[in-house]
Amino acid sequence: MSGIQAIKGTRDILSDEVGYWQWVESVARTILSRAAYREIRTPIFEQTDLFERGIGEATDVVGKEMYTFLDKGDRSITLRPEGTAGVVRAYIQRSLYAQGDTQRLWYTGPMFRYEQPQEGRQRQFHQLGIESIGSGDPRADVEVIALAIDILKTLGLDNLRLDLNSVGDPDDRRQYREALINYLTPYKASLDSDSQNRLERNPLRILDSKDPKTKEIVQDAPKIWDHFSPESQTRFEQVQQQLTDLGIAYRLNHCLVRGLDYYTHTAFEIIADTGLGAQNTVCGGGRYDGLVKELSGPQTPAVGWAIGLERLIILLRQASQAPAAPLDFYLVSRGDRAEPQATQLAQMLRHQGFSVELDLSGSAFGKQFKRADRSGATACLVLGDAEADSQTVQLKWLVSGQQESLSQADLSTKAEEFRQRLHQARA
Ligand code: ATP
Ligand code: MG
Repeated sequence: MSGIQAIKGTRDILSDEVGYWQWVESVARTILSRAAYREIRTPIFEQTDLFERGIGEATDVVGKEMYTFLDKGDRSITLRPEGTAGVVRAYIQRSLYAQGDTQRLWYTGPMFRYEQPQEGRQRQFHQLGIESIGSGDPRADVEVIALAIDILKTLGLDNLRLDLNSVGDPDDRRQYREALINYLTPYKASLDSDSQNRLERNPLRILDSKDPKTKEIVQDAPKIWDHFSPESQTRFEQVQQQLTDLGIAYRLNHCLVRGLDYYTHTAFEIIADTGLGAQNTVCGGGRYDGLVKELSGPQTPAVGWAIGLERLIILLRQASQAPAAPLDFYLVSRGDRAEPQATQLAQMLRHQGFSVELDLSGSAFGKQFKRADRSGATACLVLGDAEADSQTVQLKWLVSGQQESLSQADLSTKAEEFRQRLHQARA
């Protein structure tokens, strides 16, 4: 009989990989808190209606990909497919707008979409995202973009490209929609079947079809830029100018429309040209001035992004070593009196701030030494009954092989000195 397997499209993040996740989180936490972003944690399930209204029924996410079920009270519940809708729900429900003009929030956690699993695409995946809610100033757009770039650069990823567009305001889009439908209708039979279905419902989405023939057709489609109001045009130019002023390179892409209905003005993606294959978008975001109102809150402009962490970590694994937390001591002990004392010694050292792995095997010293060598510890502490009786311990530096005998109390009274020696031994 075979054992129970993880659900298709989910992954265990094992300890050889988890260092990357912790690294990403700590870099993001540092960079975002410097810009006055604060973390928010919302539930991983919400009323289905939140996503239907907040993401839009014509999108793939809502139309095809949601994990929706009835709970025991016959309520329709959905595992969150993305983070923004829940954050905005909390913003409205908890009246966060009463706390100040701009709420700067970030989140990270699992998201769920019923998709065909492949490299960089899972059914449970993780996002790190930020939302700047309350400001319609183009500087807010630039701030969020700059933060995404900062996080990715700090992680050592600079082979990434920023694609930028504006989707204008709803009026611009109404006009553009018509022009686009007029242009595409004669080609209808040549479009891929998804795009044919979208022609009336969500024609802008046809612009980011992955189908080669459709791509060719939309290359010559009218551009939304030609339908901007003067205000939309000015906003778009301001964002570009400010990015340039910050030294952030971008590529204009009139086909970048994002999948979600509530986006207005700025839309952007950060893309890895190599290393990810077809699933190459690491970060997607933009402005969504219509969402808070759509979800029955006050009219409130907002802008944000989400980074797909699995894809980010695939890139990091190709580019760099995850920083590993060093292990200070591996503690070897054997004997009736030594073993209980080793437990106390480990506890004392941990309270002093050292990291200590205690060998629990009770096996021969030789076997324990071999494990000490493999542990990655900087030094090995050895406690036999003779040492236990004299309250001493043998200390062996694992790189140099040098050994010394000391009193156990020294490790506590001279903790600072040992910390420095450990540091030097690792250097
Ligand atoms: P894609 O076109 O790749 O399906 P998307 O437009 O659906 O992406 P968003 O909703 O913008 O993606 O989500 C932001 C980011 O989250 C994506 O750029 C990607 O890095 C990541 N992401 C989205 N769906 C998945 C998934 N099923 N598995 C892993 N990562 C994902
Ligand atoms: Mg998708």
